Amino acid sequence: MESADAVIVGGGIMGCALAYQLSRRKVDVLLLERATLGSQSTGKCAGGVRQQFSSEGNVRLQKMSVGMLERFDEEIGHPADFRQLGYLFLLTQPQQVEDFRHNMAMWHRIGLTEARWVDPMEAARMVPILNVEDVLGCTFCPTDGIASPADVTSGYAAAARRLGARLKEGVAITGIEVASGRVQGVRTTTGDVATRLVFDCAGAWAASIGRMAGLEIPVLPYRRHIAVTGAFPAVPRTNPMTVDFQTSLYFHPEGDGVLIGMSDREEPPGYVTDVNWDFLEKVFAQAARRAPALAGAGLKTAWAGLYEVTPDHQAILGPIPELEGFWCAAGFSGHGFMQAPAAALLLTQLLLDQASEIDISSFAFERFARGALVKERNVI
Ligand SMILES: Cc1cc2nc3c(=O)[nH]c(=O)nc-3n(C[C@H](O)[C@H](O)[C@H](O)COP(=O)(O)OP(=O)(O)OC[C@H]3O[C@@H](n4cnc5c(N)ncnc54)[C@H](O)[C@@H]3O)c2cc1C
Repeated sequence: MESADAVIVGGGIMGCALAYQLSRRKVDVLLLERATLGSQSTGKCAGGVRQQFSSEGNVRLQKMSVGMLERFDEEIGHPADFRQLGYLFLLTQPQQVEDFRHNMAMWHRIGLTEARWVDPMEAARMVPILNVEDVLGCTFCPTDGIASPADVTSGYAAAARRLGARLKEGVAITGIEVASGRVQGVRTTTGDVATRLVFDCAGAWAASIGRMAGLEIPVLPYRRHIAVTGAFPAVPRTNPMTVDFQTSLYFHPEGDGVLIGMSDREEPPGYVTDVNWDFLEKVFAQAARRAPALAGAGLKTAWAGLYEVTPDHQAILGPIPELEGFWCAAGFSGHGFMQAPAAALLLTQLLLDQASEIDISSFAFERFARGALVKERNVI
């Protein structure tokens, strides 16, 4: 029977980054992906990388990820296409301005000193197509930006393979063997594998992997849309990622066009990823209100993928105490591409050194039993 020190379920950004970090520390890794590497949420994502969160844990994690993406090419030998265009949050409600004042104080206290307030006039100079008449204030962090999900994922996957990790596509996990209160192996579509350590990196499907071991992992799938326009010179390649916080509309330059996204906050959870064209019309209507010139942009392509959402919009990172040998790295709630680099390194440290250089206890599964949930509020 095949065996491995650790089996990683899922070959999105999280599984591939973790395969790399564990292999670097000489752990014998088998990663199993039922489709192809990076083809699910990771391949559908907008590539946004930001540090402007409301919870301190997320800011610290993200500062680390940003540093890792800045050095990605040098460390991994593959470009990340990380372009630090900055993220500009547009705030239109007095309560948002109040909340972001607290955020800004926290950001500065923990070292995100480059984040700053921008008034509506300056925002309009930074992003000339904006309508800022109802904007009360904005925050901007110049070290935020966008990177390439395909490059980062394939870079980690290739580096993991060079270090000896086995990454297999087209193999699904169908069961988890549990005996004597611990993980003993996994069942797959190509046979059984003996292992005493399973990492659930199955993104929007993380709950189904938990159920195979009798665990309730609280992650629900939510459809999210993206549209990309044809060539649109009014949004140059240097345009910051711009977020209309009230509606969750965001846009950033993509090739010679513009990538536009917005959450449908009315839609219940589900696994459907067909494009809802009626909803896309709403996205373009909101885009035209916030940036009127976008009304004239032609649609080049559109798609939908899944967010993997937890009750507090924070990831679940670390061991699940109910079952020895079962670890979780999922539930990123729409921030997994940017969080995976740091999450993979910190989880590897927690496993092998019993402590991580940044405290990730706020992401521990135990928080759900304690009812100690602190919602991440900067969710788009
Ligand atoms: C439209 C959209 C925009 C987004 N924008 C951003 C953004 O700007 N920035 C950001 O950080 N994040 C963004 N996200 C979120 C981000 O895409 C996810 O948080 C991230 O990709 C999660 O990575 P993952 O590896 O955990 O999951 P995935 O990439 O979904 O990987 C999980 C893998 O597990 C596999 N799997 C499931 N079940 C099994 C099984 N039984 N056996 C084997 N394999 C299995 C799946 O096939 C899948 O490939 C966006 C998401 C969407 C949909």
